[in-house]
Amino acid sequence: MKIGIDIDNTIAPTFNTIINFMNKKYTVKKKRSHSKDPSAFDLYHTDFNLFYKDWVEFLNSDKHHDMKPINGSVRVIKKLNKKHQIYIITARNSKHRKNTVLWIEKNYKEKFEEIHFIDYNHEDYTKPFFTKGDIVKRLGIDVVIEDNLNEIRDIAKKNPKTKLFLFDKNNQYTWNKERPLPKNTMKIESWKDFEREMEKLEHKTI
Ligand SMILES: [Mg+2]
Repeated sequence: MKIGIDIDNTIAPTFNTIINFMNKKYTVKKKRSHSKDPSAFDLYHTDFNLFYKDWVEFLNSDKHHDMKPINGSVRVIKKLNKKHQIYIITARNSKHRKNTVLWIEKNYKEKFEEIHFIDYNHEDYTKPFFTKGDIVKRLGIDVVIEDNLNEIRDIAKKNPKTKLFLFDKNNQYTWNKERPLPKNTMKIESWKDFEREMEKLEHKTI
């Protein structure tokens, strides 16, 4: 099978790490539970361009470089890599390829076939030229693991046959609680859950 894996908040603990980064930068003590955005945008910013400047600073920081992968992701990806083709599909801007690839290589070595980024309008970074749903379609991805419900909705709409797993780590992700979930989508709370569900899918496809 072809598996598509998201980076931020799926294999990388970006939300918690960026809150530590921003609290330090602005000398504040904002709480995770007060944010409903996977990049904690709503805790510190109202203007996207200012947020984006901080996001780029974060991507270039040691805090980003030193992030430890989310529990279980390294082990399960290593195992899945033996049977499946695994693709990284991130909404990060392709401009930030270097820091992203460095982090991936540091933690996952060569477990991925390809790493796919999104390209954005240079005048307006809120406007992508294509979406994750388009990438999933182009690559013919069978299974996706992703924490962002908006992305899941877009992928589901464009790929009715793809099996989708909404990652809500330990049920703590404030940004993906809306229901109902799109068709073919199942919520999971850990990489161990994903491992178990993949085993079920493997048995079905034999
Ligand atoms: Mg994500």
